Amino acid sequence: MEPVLETAMRQFHQAADRIELRDEMRELLTSFKTVYQTDFPVNMDNGSTKVFSGYRVHHNSARGPMKGGIRFSSIVSLDEIKALAMWMTWKCAVVNVPFGGAKGGVICDPGTLSSSELQDLTRRFTSEIAPIIGPDRDIPAPDMGTNAQIMAWMMDTYSMEQGYTIPGIVTGKPVAIGGSEGRFEATGRGLLYVLQEHLAAEGGVRDRTVSVQGFGNVGGVAAKLLCEAGARVQYISDVATALHHPEGIDALAAFAHVQAGGTLRTWLDEHPNAAEEVAHEDVLTADVDVLVPAAVESVLTEHNAGDVRAKLIIEGANGPTTSDADAILNERGVMLIPDTLANAGGVTVSYFEWVQARQYLHWSEEQVNAELRRVMTDAYHNVISRCPLNSGGMCTQREAAQWIGVERVVEAIELRGIFP
Ligand code: GLU
Repeated sequence: MEPVLETAMRQFHQAADRIELRDEMRELLTSFKTVYQTDFPVNMDNGSTKVFSGYRVHHNSARGPMKGGIRFSSIVSLDEIKALAMWMTWKCAVVNVPFGGAKGGVICDPGTLSSSELQDLTRRFTSEIAPIIGPDRDIPAPDMGTNAQIMAWMMDTYSMEQGYTIPGIVTGKPVAIGGSEGRFEATGRGLLYVLQEHLAAEGGVRDRTVSVQGFGNVGGVAAKLLCEAGARVQYISDVATALHHPEGIDALAAFAHVQAGGTLRTWLDEHPNAAEEVAHEDVLTADVDVLVPAAVESVLTEHNAGDVRAKLIIEGANGPTTSDADAILNERGVMLIPDTLANAGGVTVSYFEWVQARQYLHWSEEQVNAELRRVMTDAYHNVISRCPLNSGGMCTQREAAQWIGVERVVEAIELRGIFP
């Protein structure tokens, strides 16, 4: 078992121990409803044909249709997709949206594919997984390496095969074809709302020093919104470049540059005084108030958890902290707001998008953001009610979120019963 799946399993079993979950329920919840693997050919621009491997995994559907992103990355593996599908089940339950958990991915490096190769790969993969997805069955969304354009191609492929437009088949689509206002920023915005709630009694996020690892749809947006909210974003990083400025980095300008097709390297080249380059590890061990790991899984491990100097970690990525690191951070009194709560804003607005698609309605951005704030705030207080901030480390927010997730899924399974 790869470390990422081991982390997901250990988190589940820790919660299962605390709520004394019976063995057959543990067996059910550590199993996967559907594991779909497909090898499929794509015609490349140079005339050759290349075979790619992809996955779609359903973890559990007790609470509703299954939901989760599609990842295009060269490090995709079946164990990773299983772990991410399981986390989706708990995440949807923690924010109480009526979905089960799924995830998918294709092993590829999207940066090396031309636009037409990317489109052909997306369309063929969609066609391969079409039998197990559907607007009432399993609704994909963007994740690492995928975006609104890729969702548009998925929606079109599925719709063409059915013979009519089915906007509810994916979320995270462009707004012009039924996407939701606010979906692009939703994960970072949801993270900000949770953080604002967490720090409300201590003066909010204004003037807090922050370090953000990852500068994509989660980290980039979070850094930008934190800047706008008055935090001092001292560190940012993308896969190639890590930057620091003691007075704070203009993350709005950096994000606008990256959105226009640049990288943090080219931004620094154009604005050499905006920041200084530092080592990637410095971003994780920065002496700041808040650390936001928003890149990939398993970046906080037993090897560096002892060096973390932030007082608070809020997880933008899925599974950035291994179980060993969790134990070390908890022991050291570092407060951690877990992924299944902190980054659930994405799937929450995905739910709003799906509802709008089913009703052929269009909500305003104000309405989306207000509903998002309500859902994230309720979920945060629900977690905190299980794990008071003054519990003296007896219970972490990760454990509390995991209990809520597992309990809600178990309740659904028990109410529905086992078929036949
Ligand atoms: N990929 C995102 C996540 O990991 C969003 C999933 C969705 O919107 O369905 O939460």
